[in-house]
Amino acid sequence: MAETEHAVTREAIALVAERLSRAYPYIREVKAAEGLFTDTPLDSLMRAVLSQNTTDRNRDAAFAALQSRYSSWDDVADAPQEALAEVIRVTNYAYTKAGRMQAILRRLCEEHGRATLDFLREWPTDRVLDYLDAFPGIGPKSAAIVALFALDRPVMPVDTHVYRVAQRLGWIGPTTTPERAHAVLRALIPPALVLPLHMGCWEHGRVTCRPVPRCGQCAVYAFCRFPAKTAPEPLVEEAIAHTAHSRRKAA
Ligand code: SF4
Repeated sequence: MAETEHAVTREAIALVAERLSRAYPYIREVKAAEGLFTDTPLDSLMRAVLSQNTTDRNRDAAFAALQSRYSSWDDVADAPQEALAEVIRVTNYAYTKAGRMQAILRRLCEEHGRATLDFLREWPTDRVLDYLDAFPGIGPKSAAIVALFALDRPVMPVDTHVYRVAQRLGWIGPTTTPERAHAVLRALIPPALVLPLHMGCWEHGRVTCRPVPRCGQCAVYAFCRFPAKTAPEPLVEEAIAHTAHSRRKAA
């Protein structure tokens, strides 16, 4: 509670989760199509490195190019850095990312005989996060993505969209950093709601609660503490969901 802006009840959190799920009913399908639920822990970490400073589309294009060019992560570890950078050139900072990926993969090969993170499945969540966080270039968000999507652990990745929405809902304070927000939200959100809320807040921040928010189309207006929120228009829930889906298809 100390770093939460306002008193937030579990009932309110559950209602926000429910309303976001109804406003963005397609979001699980979108994430599934991106492969996030079928990634191995190492796939997930490599995808997280690729996603830094680029779009999801470019991240996925680079990931697909890797899968088509190399038969295993061990092969990626052994590739010349320039060649690897060329394969993932669709992402920004491809040479830096290639080096970052290979540093991780080579360390895993040294420590475990091959490039794998499957051993994390047996580890407790805090140990998983500490281990991943210790790799150069891997922060709490990337560690949380691996934990949530590949290991089914209730850890909320806080990207720019989730951070903005959580702050406007008063779940984190105005001075709480994105890094610190991971711990605050982990303590606040019931485990069963972490995944739906991550996906819901992410899509809400992307299409509705943008830097300049579309408050008139907001499914969680009643729970918002943002002082600059605007007056809502009289849209019913079905209309909100329909509008969100249309915006996504048009994007
Ligand atoms: S009311 Fe506006 S600022 Fe508040 S959560 Fe909804 S879209 Fe965001």
